[in-house]
Amino acid sequence: MVIKAVKGTKDILPQEVAQWHKLERNALEIFSRYGYREIRTPIFEVTELFARGVGDTTDIVNKEMYTFEKSERSLTLRPENTAGVVRSFIENGMSRLSAPVKLWYKGPMFRYERPQAGRQRQFHQVGVEMFGVKDAAADAEVILLAVEYLKSLGLNDLEVEINSLGCPKCREEYKRKIKEVLKPEFANLCEDCQNRYEKNPLRLLDCKVESCKKIFEKPEIQRVIRSDYICEECAKHYSELKNYLDELNVKYVENKLLVRGLDYYNRTVFEIKSNNLGSQNAVCGGGRYDSLVKNLGGEDTPAVGFAMGMERLNSLLPCPDEQKLDAYVVSNSSADAFKLTQELRNQGFMVEFDLSNKKFTKQLEKAAKIAKYALILGEDEIKSNTVSIKNLDTSEQINVARNEVPKKIG
Ligand code: ATP
Ligand code: MG
Repeated sequence: MVIKAVKGTKDILPQEVAQWHKLERNALEIFSRYGYREIRTPIFEVTELFARGVGDTTDIVNKEMYTFEKSERSLTLRPENTAGVVRSFIENGMSRLSAPVKLWYKGPMFRYERPQAGRQRQFHQVGVEMFGVKDAAADAEVILLAVEYLKSLGLNDLEVEINSLGCPKCREEYKRKIKEVLKPEFANLCEDCQNRYEKNPLRLLDCKVESCKKIFEKPEIQRVIRSDYICEECAKHYSELKNYLDELNVKYVENKLLVRGLDYYNRTVFEIKSNNLGSQNAVCGGGRYDSLVKNLGGEDTPAVGFAMGMERLNSLLPCPDEQKLDAYVVSNSSADAFKLTQELRNQGFMVEFDLSNKKFTKQLEKAAKIAKYALILGEDEIKSNTVSIKNLDTSEQINVARNEVPKKIG
């Protein structure tokens, strides 16, 4: 029986790799310009890191983790990279560096979810984390950076949604109100919502189940959701963020239902959505997580960051044309063809030679598909130490001395 890739995983095939390179190249270039340095953390960590870091009321921790035992330790393939970066930040004493400490990453993440368009079990994220700044300027810069990165990829038609979750103090009051107003509806909520009702009522607002969404649309519930519950300090931080974004011409819409799926956020949360992605329409999610570093055993350090799904970005990008070879050597003498090919490769050209021993017309047909020039090495050329160069765009053909070839195809 043929062995297939595991459900929810995908090969990235050679013809797709150019796009991935673009995502990675632009990340390196733009994030560096904003002072971020790349960090690469291990793909697996102790399970407790995610239980404490991501939060044990989240779907990720409750249902989606790939967890396994080795030498009586419970280990987990990372479902996201913020927890790993924070662990590394603490472990490597990065809080001693002068703030802000700016880090970025890219790589595979693993979540046991139902695979569908835009949702895989192994997928890739690129993201940033900024440590040490409480001011809303940090939140604004992180949002701006996400937008600039997306623009660099040619993605302009995206919507930035923002919200403020307040701080743990003001959120308690909000949670109490949400619970109160939803109490009469408890029996009609989905099982997940019922389970979250006590521990994490805010997350109910993020529920994707239609019958729950309907409930949340009721006016008395909307009134609570739309109320300005956050405390004065959080409100000030939020309005500063909006001012910065206005000043910087970053367009956004406010969405009070935006709560994000991870427990560690406070104050700013944001998402960037595309209208061209169907139901899995979020390309970027992020926000502020001021208590995470301390929760994971480090010094109290404010932080803000985002993560983007690279598969979803890729599906928004046009397919790039396949790169053509600089030249294709057409010959029935493989030894000579090999030698010429090698000379040119050593000078930096991308060259292949034909090994089929077919008629020249056939070899030229192939060359026209994959290369810019055909380098013809027939008996005459070999005798006279020349090469016939055929421009495969214009069909023009010239005969030149062998050492002239690089100049002609360069
Ligand atoms: P979603 O609501 O789409 O499940 P999320 O809130 O779980 O997203 P985050 O954990 O914030 O997402 O991850 C950031 C980004 O990573 C998402 O906006 C999305 O683009 C991408 N992403 C998340 N889960 C997957 C997945 N299973 N497959 C592909 N991309 C994903
Ligand atoms: Mg999710």
